[in-house]
Amino acid sequence: LELSLQHASKLEAVGRLTGGIAHDFNNMLSIVIGNLDLVKGSLQGNEKALRRVESAIDGAHRCAELTSRLLAFSRRSPLQPKVLDLSSFIPGLIKLLERTLGERIQISANVEEGLPEVCVDHAQFEAALINLAVNARDAMPDGGTLSIDIGQRDAGAQDGIEAGRSVDVAVTDSGTGMPPDVLARVFEPFFTTKEAGKGTGLGLSMVYGFVQQSGGAITVHSNPGHGTRFVITLPALASGSVTSEEADPSATTGAP
Ligand code: ADP
Repeated sequence: LELSLQHASKLEAVGRLTGGIAHDFNNMLSIVIGNLDLVKGSLQGNEKALRRVESAIDGAHRCAELTSRLLAFSRRSPLQPKVLDLSSFIPGLIKLLERTLGERIQISANVEEGLPEVCVDHAQFEAALINLAVNARDAMPDGGTLSIDIGQRDAGAQDGIEAGRSVDVAVTDSGTGMPPDVLARVFEPFFTTKEAGKGTGLGLSMVYGFVQQSGGAITVHSNPGHGTRFVITLPALASGSVTSEEADPSATTGAP
């Protein structure tokens, strides 16, 4: 999969543009929502008008959700990387995914023992994995299996990660898979195959940006009709040389 410089600068340009627009848009939206709420309060007894105003409020809230995603994409808030022990992080994530994905998706997790720690923004890492998992669910409309496999890899230099140890976080689904023309564009901002209102095409470009900024790499393999696997590779912290406390005193106290 070619993710060129051209792609990176497109991502940056789109990020800057959408960040600026989303910010102003959000301010105006809060005026719209505030006024609609006031109008709603004065409409007691007029059921028809009340329903119209409620659906306008509903639409405005959906716009607000989209702009907040755009703001997250443009990443005005910088990352806060902290030491992360994956084996203690995963059980909580699995619980969250079970609630988010619903009963038709079986979740299987396989975390290798003795994993080295990594250093990432915990909240953004969780958001990235949820993004991958929700896409996986969407690719399995009749249900299926989502596997999260985490293991150490003795990497040679690859995809911009220096030779040395790294950790692979693989998210695999048994869904529809993607044909090559879709696969080639998945990380492009605003690329979506979902129907209007369901997809923004920003999820994977956010994941891509996050992984890049964390010093990692992401790859995707897909087998149409059988499923898709995303692998996030993160540089491992050298074991023994730094303890969590030395590397980041807030990691043991302030982390979510
Ligand atoms: P969105 O989910 O809003 O469409 P994304 O950037 O997250 O935006 O995904 C872009 C597109 O990549 C999706 O519309 C879909 O076509 C494809 N895609 C992503 N993940 C998967 C997956 N696990 N299986 C099949 N297709 C996928």
